[in-house]
Amino acid sequence: MANSGSNVYGEDEAITYKSSVDETALKEQLDPLSYAVLREAATERPFTGEYNDVYEVGSYRCKACGAELFKSEAKFKTGCGWPSFYQPTEGDAVVLIEDRSLAPRVRTEVRCANCGSHLGHVFEGEGYETPTDQRYCINSVALVLEQA
Ligand SMILES: [Zn+2]
Repeated sequence: MANSGSNVYGEDEAITYKSSVDETALKEQLDPLSYAVLREAATERPFTGEYNDVYEVGSYRCKACGAELFKSEAKFKTGCGWPSFYQPTEGDAVVLIEDRSLAPRVRTEVRCANCGSHLGHVFEGEGYETPTDQRYCINSVALVLEQA
């Protein structure tokens, strides 16, 4: 089972990703919003993403590198305006990083473990009736759904 609590990287820790991103090629390949979210940690407006209210069976992959990140089985309804998952497809599919950009509020950023692209944030202890009590709140534009 995924467990975020134990290994959240500090903001300044150097993280080595398995695959490196060609920023120029990626910028040409992606629409501006996807690039801004994935590589500049922007956030899409709530209730605008194509996967916000989608419950098709399949796998959600990183739009930058294609790594599998989440499965549809872990997607659940929250009404928060972004696709929400209670766990990643594998514990090491994503990397968690302390995010103090809204200090004093400290959030936990979620990135693709393969290429380091920004995906969203994870929140815990909100009381959702899921196996983990975690909500991976992910930008639709960071994902590509591969239907099963
Ligand atoms: Zn990736």
